[in-house]
Amino acid sequence: MSLSIKYWGVRGSLPSSKTPQGWITHIEGVLRSFFNAGLKEPSQIQKFIENYDVPNLGGYGTATTCVEVSSSKQQLIIDGGSGIRILSERMMSGRTHTSTRGPFHIFMTHFHWDHLIGLPFFTPHFMPGANIHYYGVQKDLEKLIRGVFQKPYFPVPYEALAAKVHFHVLEPYKTLQLGDLNVTPYQLDHPDPCWGYKISCKDKTYSHCVDTEGTRVSREELGPDLPLYQNVDLMYFDAQYTFPELAEKANWGHSAAQIGLDIAFRENIKQILFAHHDPGASIQQIHEIRQQTMEYYNWRLQHAKQSNEPIGEVKWDFAYDGLEVIL
Ligand SMILES: [Zn+2]
Ligand SMILES: [Zn+2]
Repeated sequence: MSLSIKYWGVRGSLPSSKTPQGWITHIEGVLRSFFNAGLKEPSQIQKFIENYDVPNLGGYGTATTCVEVSSSKQQLIIDGGSGIRILSERMMSGRTHTSTRGPFHIFMTHFHWDHLIGLPFFTPHFMPGANIHYYGVQKDLEKLIRGVFQKPYFPVPYEALAAKVHFHVLEPYKTLQLGDLNVTPYQLDHPDPCWGYKISCKDKTYSHCVDTEGTRVSREELGPDLPLYQNVDLMYFDAQYTFPELAEKANWGHSAAQIGLDIAFRENIKQILFAHHDPGASIQQIHEIRQQTMEYYNWRLQHAKQSNEPIGEVKWDFAYDGLEVIL
C-alpha cells in the first residue's frame, strides 16, 4: 500500500516569484547553456531539458504551503497556502482521484497568512453539495476559518458559502483514523503555536514538520513530541534559513537543514525534504544552501565513521512546487 505526497506549495511567508526581468535573465542563461553545449536544432531541446533537474530550469516554486497526502483510498490536504489554488483547479478538472464534491479534508498546522491565503480560492467552498472538513488542534478553529471569508478582506462572507463546512478540533497526540490514514498531531517550535502531523498508512509514514524552528533537538527536550520524528519514511522539514542566519533570527520560528539532518541521523529517518523557502531566496541562493547542506552532510558522515558512530545515510533534497514522492 503506497502513500503519495504531493507538494503544491513549498515557499514560506509570502508567495513570491522572480520579476519578469529576472525571468528574462534566467531564460537568457538557459539559452546560452543550450548553444554553449554545441546544440542548434529544435529537435535537441527535449533532450537538453531532460538533462536539467527541475529546480535548475524552473526554480523551486512560488506558492506557499499546501501538501496533498493520499493513499489509493483516502486523500487529505495539509494547509491552504496559495498552492491550494492549483490543487483546486486540478480537482475541478477531474485530474485527481477526488470527486468535485469531496468530501475534502483540510488539516491546518496554524493560521499564519502563508498557510491560509489560498483558502478563498479553493473552489469547492462555492459548490452546492460539496463537503469540506477542517481539522486543527486550535480550539477556535471554526472562528479562525470563518475569519478568512469576511468582508472587506474577501467579497464572499462565510455565511454565503454553498458548501457544507465541518470543523473537527483535534486532541494533541491523539490519533485520528481517516479511512486508511492515521493522523496524529504533535507540537512544533513555532509561535502562535503550530502543529505538525504524523501520517501513516500501513507500514509507510510521513512526518510534516513545517513551520518549526527546531529549538528542541534532543530526545529529552522533545518529550511528548519525539514520536513525530521516529519510524519515519519521509520528513518534511523547515529550512528557510542558512545555519548562521538561524542564530540571527532566533524566535522567528524557522529552522535550517543541518538541524533536520541531525534529527534524521539520530532517529534513522530515511528521507528528508527541506522547504519553507524564504520569499527572497533566488534559485541561486537555494542552490547555495543546498551546497552548504551537502558539505555538512558529508562532514557528519565522515565524522561518524571516524568515531564509529552507527549512523546510516539519509536521502535528502530541497522541495519544489509540483514535486511528488511516493512511499
Ligand atoms: Zn509559514
Ligand atoms: Zn508560521
